Amino acid sequence: MKKVQDAKRYEHTLGVAFTAAALAMRYDCDIQDAQTAGLLHDCAKCMSDEKRLAICKKRQIHMTEVEKKSPFLLHAKVGAYLAAEKYGIKNQDILNAIQNHTTGRPGMSSLEKIIFIADYIEPGRSQAPNLAKIRKLAFVNLDQALLAILEDTLSYLKTTGSSLDPMTERTWLYYRDMERCEIKENDRSEVNGQ
Ligand code: FE
Ligand code: FE
Repeated sequence: MKKVQDAKRYEHTLGVAFTAAALAMRYDCDIQDAQTAGLLHDCAKCMSDEKRLAICKKRQIHMTEVEKKSPFLLHAKVGAYLAAEKYGIKNQDILNAIQNHTTGRPGMSSLEKIIFIADYIEPGRSQAPNLAKIRKLAFVNLDQALLAILEDTLSYLKTTGSSLDPMTERTWLYYRDMERCEIKENDRSEVNGQ
């Protein structure tokens, strides 16, 4: 990664790998898989939009309309492709974690959630609102941290008018509804004295 990324991105990459490893320890995931996914998640970030578009065309990787308009969004999909083809990753969970690290998706695996969250909270980040709260929450409840990040990301993208991948909203709706169901379940258990 040091060879293909600029200094700032490389530092972020190390931060994500390190944070992903810590989260993997907390949530009983494979630590090495978390480190590998963290190291590779932005492997297609430091290349031109033209190159990303060219790879997608050549390899017949499906592009949505939003991605065609904002090809930087493609760094996740192209990253997963390069992880498999150039860096020899065969573990589908690692490839999914790379592919879904910007938008998430409904029904993510623990590793996918860990990379998504590590990308947001790694020590080099400083801009996001509620960062201190989300950093703590990430080590208490993975799903609640995921939801908090999705909420903040959506409100940020909406206020700045930046291009929003509809998948981010789908992921948010999925985990919001899941959280609501869980709250209802807990209420029911309390009523039943369980
Ligand atoms: Fe990224
Ligand atoms: Fe990243």
